[in-house]
Amino acid sequence: MIPSSQSGPGLLSSVARIWPLLRPHRRRLWGGGACVVVTVACWPLLALLAGRLIPAIGAGDLATSLRTILLALLVFLVQKLAQFGQDTLLADPALRVSQTLRQQLFARLQQLRFSALDSLSAGDLTYRLTEDADRVGEVIYKTIHDTLPSGLQLLAVLATMLWLDWPLALATLLLAPVIALLVSGFGARVLAAADRSQRQVSELAGLLAEAIAGLPLVRAYAAEPWLQQRFNHEVEQHRSARYRTLRLLALQHPVVGFLEALGILAVLLVGAWRIQSGQLDGQGLSSYVAALLMLIDPIAHLTTNFNEFQQGQASLQRLRAIEAEPVEPPDRPTARPLGPVQGALQLEGIHFGYDHHAAVLADLNLAVEPGQVVALVGPSGAGKSTLFSLLLRFNTPQQGRVLLDGQNLVDLRARELRHAIALVPQQSPVFSGTIAEAIAFGRPASPEQIRTAARVANADGFIEALPHGYGSRLEERGRNLSGGQLQRLAIARAVLGNPALLLLDEATSALDAEAEEAVQRGLEQAMAGRTVLVIAHRLATVQRADRIVVLEAGRIVEQGSHNQLLASAGRYRDLCRRQFIDLTP
Ligand code: ADP
Repeated sequence: MIPSSQSGPGLLSSVARIWPLLRPHRRRLWGGGACVVVTVACWPLLALLAGRLIPAIGAGDLATSLRTILLALLVFLVQKLAQFGQDTLLADPALRVSQTLRQQLFARLQQLRFSALDSLSAGDLTYRLTEDADRVGEVIYKTIHDTLPSGLQLLAVLATMLWLDWPLALATLLLAPVIALLVSGFGARVLAAADRSQRQVSELAGLLAEAIAGLPLVRAYAAEPWLQQRFNHEVEQHRSARYRTLRLLALQHPVVGFLEALGILAVLLVGAWRIQSGQLDGQGLSSYVAALLMLIDPIAHLTTNFNEFQQGQASLQRLRAIEAEPVEPPDRPTARPLGPVQGALQLEGIHFGYDHHAAVLADLNLAVEPGQVVALVGPSGAGKSTLFSLLLRFNTPQQGRVLLDGQNLVDLRARELRHAIALVPQQSPVFSGTIAEAIAFGRPASPEQIRTAARVANADGFIEALPHGYGSRLEERGRNLSGGQLQRLAIARAVLGNPALLLLDEATSALDAEAEEAVQRGLEQAMAGRTVLVIAHRLATVQRADRIVVLEAGRIVEQGSHNQLLASAGRYRDLCRRQFIDLTP
């Protein structure tokens, strides 16, 4: 799991992260900003009008009252129109920021090193890219359409108060530092509590994702009470973390509210004294109190927004933690274009380990001619999949070279290299969409090309028999197709790009004889004319291979044809005895 908060990313670094995302929407921001200025400027005007109105009403001066009321109505109308402009103009940039943030993070996710991805939970990542990104957008919206205007309103009203009676205003301001201290003290605690509670939601999402994927197994083991207990524990943790946040907020509101009330009462007292000593008149105090009441709203907004802002900071930090994870190394600036590929492979003196002390592949040398079929066999953990990962440049060897047609893979462009290679994993993940989309897999392909690929993979028969043919939708995890059909679909996907090199990881799960035969036929057609490396679990495959390479603990211990290796009575013969049925040469 990624650390949920980093040390010291303060407000400035958050702004530095967000501002470039807001920049393209400057025009709307300016428009919204102009509306904000109009909205804010109306408040002092209203305070002054209130100062005129209240004594006029008290004196029974109907004409002045009516004129002032009509004027106030006009000011209110202008203000509300400007508020509408501000809210609509500023909402769009904020939403776009969370959209861009999400897109950037997803792009980053696609580039993360597999080692980084392995350490992340899918549920946690999902939470970050949905909830956290949303929260950041909301906070930006709040900040620009509410916090900034509230701050401006606060300043404008304070300036009015100073202008009306500065000694009274200064007395009022004495209370401000006390309130500010309390608010920021609360803010820090709210941030910590919010971070804890958000992390808890991430954990919950992680467990939920595991639980949903593992439900059949859980039911098969009658382990529902165990899972329920784990879930209950997480939910309880989440509730208590959330409760701590809410309790802090619940405490904050009355404390700040009480201080406000105290402030107003104190101002009234000082005001009464100022009037008595003849330094202020009734109209001035009315305006002053009206202005004071106009302070309450922005202060309340600023305190709640400050809390949300802290929560948004926590979300942004969690998003930035993904950005801090290592990505795939980029292509070298000197990387050469690949050109047409013959499919000759050479592995020379390869040493590779996932971490530097434990070697997974050691002193590995292997040469494969174009068009050869090489079967890799060996116990699980021998390093067969790791070898594939080197060919796809998911990993690079610490020593030695991997050459394709004589070119070192590290000197090629990764995307071009991967276009020349097709991987058929043991079990292909299924993306929702149609069968045609599953075969094309994002590559531009005509229906005819897709049909041809399906024909090669021996998949056209079953696809055409589906109610909507190639337009039939794959259900979640490919539920509506059998294992053998999904495998043939994966083979069709592999051959569509006409790769020179095919990497097959044979499915270990047993298929029934008929399905097995259909898959084998597809494989045979797919392998024709290509260099093929196949992690073999079946006798039929190894027998058909030009060469069998036996890997054990990261080293090649034997290689040769099926018959040669059986005759030499070594590791391969042992393996066959344990795994394959037929031993007759
Ligand atoms: P095989 O495909 O022959 O079963 P692998 O290539 O998957 O073997 O694994 C070889 C060794 O490398 C094993 O000891 C395995 O635990 C280790 N290994 C595989 N993948 C990783 C990984 N992503 N991080 C760390 N170690 C790994």
